Amino acid sequence: MLKNDMLDQWDRETFFHPSTHLAQHARGESPTRVISGGQGSHIVDRDGNRFLDAFAGLYCVNVGYGRTEIAEAIAEQARELAYYHAYVGHGTEASIRLAKMILDRAPKGMSKVYFGLSGSDANETNIKLIWYYNNILGRPEKKKIISRWRGYHGSGLMTGSLTGLELFHRKFDLPLTQVVHTEAPYYYRRRDADMGEQAFTAHLAAELEALIEREGADTIAAFIGEPVLGTGGIVPPPAGYWQAIQAVLDRHDILLVADEVVTGFGRLGSMFGSDHYGMKPDLITIAKGLTSAYAPLSGSIVGERMWKVLEQGTDENGPIGHGWTYSAHPIGAAAGVANLKLIDDLDLIGNAAQVGAELNAQMRAALGNHANVGEIRGEGMLCAVELVEDRDNRVFFDPSRKIGPAISAAMADRGVIARAMPQGDIIGYAPPFCMTRQEAETVVSATVDAIKQVLG
Ligand code: PMP
Repeated sequence: MLKNDMLDQWDRETFFHPSTHLAQHARGESPTRVISGGQGSHIVDRDGNRFLDAFAGLYCVNVGYGRTEIAEAIAEQARELAYYHAYVGHGTEASIRLAKMILDRAPKGMSKVYFGLSGSDANETNIKLIWYYNNILGRPEKKKIISRWRGYHGSGLMTGSLTGLELFHRKFDLPLTQVVHTEAPYYYRRRDADMGEQAFTAHLAAELEALIEREGADTIAAFIGEPVLGTGGIVPPPAGYWQAIQAVLDRHDILLVADEVVTGFGRLGSMFGSDHYGMKPDLITIAKGLTSAYAPLSGSIVGERMWKVLEQGTDENGPIGHGWTYSAHPIGAAAGVANLKLIDDLDLIGNAAQVGAELNAQMRAALGNHANVGEIRGEGMLCAVELVEDRDNRVFFDPSRKIGPAISAAMADRGVIARAMPQGDIIGYAPPFCMTRQEAETVVSATVDAIKQVLG
């Protein structure tokens, strides 16, 4: 085992951490956190400190840590056949079985799964397929993609453009010109407090339609959205939102991509967010919960109307010119099969629905009247607490005070991990589905104590 100070030194000298303040980290102003183990809802660091992980890594370790069933499936696959590609009709039993399991669980009308490695590459695949689709249909102008401000769809060139968070654009020359953003369905942040939820939904649908008409419907290919806004603040949609959006898209022959990287496979207490909200997507992005992050694997689930055109495209043009070396990697696929089986066998979606509802209810009971808590919101095993300086007048804290990060740090001092969401003072919770009621109570009391410590 390496000594801790050696690890720290190597880390600062050699490791380029994602989403990290590089200069501060290199100077040693932020700690190196080395996580060394995990079991159930808990992780352990190199010093033996134990944390209740109320964010399941990055909302991905849905079945919890230390599942030997998945570890064994991975080991067995690695021993038998660690790799073979999926090009030109090749596959492995694990990848074929997993595709079947996904389609058996997917919303009606879906046809095939294309496997990738990350949520970002799956969304890159989606956009390429959408462009291909419109080219085959003979409408090469219909290419722009509408995304929402505060949406999160990845960190690539196209997917970073789709992501509606300024930090992901600034100094990277993004967004690309093919991406257009529309208003986030974020009722609480809306300045005009007099507008009811239904009216807000109608406003968002009208805004979307106006945008489409301004740009020209013949230039807009697709709309992408997470069923519940995730990284942008954990914001469930206002009442009737997806029906209203769907109606606008249908009127203008615009495809819908449901980015279910966070919501897929149970996080909302239902198998898919699309079913939860009655969305009718043409493409569904899956990643995180597909393997509970035991191995990297993602997918694009392609709906029937697109699939027919893709087949036609290859009859006219030859094989589809899109493939990753690691598409349908057998180790990821074996992890996926074992993970989905575990979710069924232990009814983890049922537990997510039940304990998630309790977590949200307990949070409301403990903090619903707090002077600095503007809103508590959630759905299934997702919850968010939004902090404000003045609740009555909905005045937000100056971002330079970094209230969210301070509360998240104070919670970590109490052994509970919750995420300070990147935009706004929002504490986010996305626990593993195996979290117990008692653990949910611990999360709530750590939140209450941390808020007290930071805000008095
Ligand atoms: N879509 C959504 C909704 C996500 O939350 C994320 C990751 N947080 C992504 C896409 C990108 O996934 P990845 O980080 O695996 O590329």
